[in-house]
Amino acid sequence: MVTVGVVACVVERRLAQGRLRCPACSGRLAGWGYARVRVIRGENGVGWRLRPRRSRCGGCGGTHVLLPVSCLLRRADGVAVIWAGLAGKAAGLGYRPVARLLGRPASTVRDWLARFASRAGAVRGLFTVWLCALDTDPPPLAPAGPAVADAVAAVTAAAAAAARRWAGRLVSLSPGELASSVSAGLLLAPGFAPERANTSSS
Ligand SMILES: [Zn+2]
Repeated sequence: MVTVGVVACVVERRLAQGRLRCPACSGRLAGWGYARVRVIRGENGVGWRLRPRRSRCGGCGGTHVLLPVSCLLRRADGVAVIWAGLAGKAAGLGYRPVARLLGRPASTVRDWLARFASRAGAVRGLFTVWLCALDTDPPPLAPAGPAVADAVAAVTAAAAAAARRWAGRLVSLSPGELASSVSAGLLLAPGFAPERANTSSS
């Protein structure tokens, strides 16, 4: 089962219009019930119930869960919280202070940071490509320091470029939401593959 990062409020319309494509074969996805309800932990301890739409590909028959960009696959915390943790690490904080700031278990935060650090170079490369695709003359991306900081800086710069490019035409995406969308929800999950990253979601 693969996850497609899309803004929740447009999923049904896109499904009905046949505008969502299978990440495996590019066939058209149609509604196919719902995945199980889960509770996502948001900022300031505010959680929300998520009932992800499930879809089925008319080409290969595979089923896919359509996850909103506010979430990451296999993570119970919303991407805003996780991204705040990654930004804290990029700013030089260790996992224990980040965990205290966010009110999350230290072991959970350590896991986020380790997973992100293990692919920081790939994330930086992917989002540098996006930055240049979104802005033909982007502000120079200065080295931010450690690999995690460089990766966070690249995602943040790409989100800013997206906001400039689509100003007034698109609900703006935060850096964390952009990271979720482009990675198809796999930013911190097994199977993160920059070469197959999502290029059709908004
Ligand atoms: Zn397919």
